[in-house]
Amino acid sequence: MYPVLSVSPRDRSAHDIAPVTRPAPMLGASYTGPMLACLCLLLFQTRPIDSLDSLASHYSIKVEVVTQAYLWQGEGYKVVSDAVPATDLARYTPLFVKEWSLYPVSLMAKARVRRIVIGSNIRMDGQPRAAVPASDDDTLYYDATLGAKVPHYQRIVLHHEFFHLIDDRSGWMRRDPDWAALNLHDFHYGSGGDKMREHGSGELTDKIPGFLTPYGTSAVEEDKAELFAHLVVDPEFVKKRAAADPVVASKIKLLKSRLAQFDPDMGEAFWKQMG
Ligand SMILES: [Zn+2]
Repeated sequence: MYPVLSVSPRDRSAHDIAPVTRPAPMLGASYTGPMLACLCLLLFQTRPIDSLDSLASHYSIKVEVVTQAYLWQGEGYKVVSDAVPATDLARYTPLFVKEWSLYPVSLMAKARVRRIVIGSNIRMDGQPRAAVPASDDDTLYYDATLGAKVPHYQRIVLHHEFFHLIDDRSGWMRRDPDWAALNLHDFHYGSGGDKMREHGSGELTDKIPGFLTPYGTSAVEEDKAELFAHLVVDPEFVKKRAAADPVVASKIKLLKSRLAQFDPDMGEAFWKQMG
């Protein structure tokens, strides 16, 4: 999870959501010869990713926008969302498309991403959430309204929460002695991200040895998700921190090596995009 920027409590009721995606075109239909099928494939692959629809096709996932009050019951928790206001959707869509497009197609299958739901005023068990990685439904929920005027925040949330899903699929998420051992010997994590929700906990700092933000100290899974998100969004800051802090440097090394192992397309080719 990630600290929220604002709280706006309201009641929720159950309904469904309307998909904005269409099924990917079938290739090589019966009337086509091999050459035509080949051309179709080429056109399909070079289609620009400039909308939620084209992004869904490119990654072979569902991308849905909440258009009326929505409830999803997970395994022991529930997620609710309001319909996304048009202005928030218009602002969020290009940001989401640009950031998600950094990821290789192969990662969707490896991380088992089946569906992305873009909502507004999302809550999990009544608690406001910027996003919810629902691993039991292979779904990621993202709030387009929270932080609508702070693109940096929304970018961090996007990558931070997706990393939680990757970490979960990798089997390291909450019990990770190898990672914890990289910390200074007298350091102990806090009692979890849900216990550190105060304003400013996600701010970058060079005042905490081994960490990029106060929030990263709340739990081992938050430490990893924070490092990943800021490596993507704030690569220059992280580079400087790593040069001055051997703990941060060692965490980056382990994180990158694990990602490359999880999906070879998440190796150097992925990080080159951040310069
Ligand atoms: Zn988190």
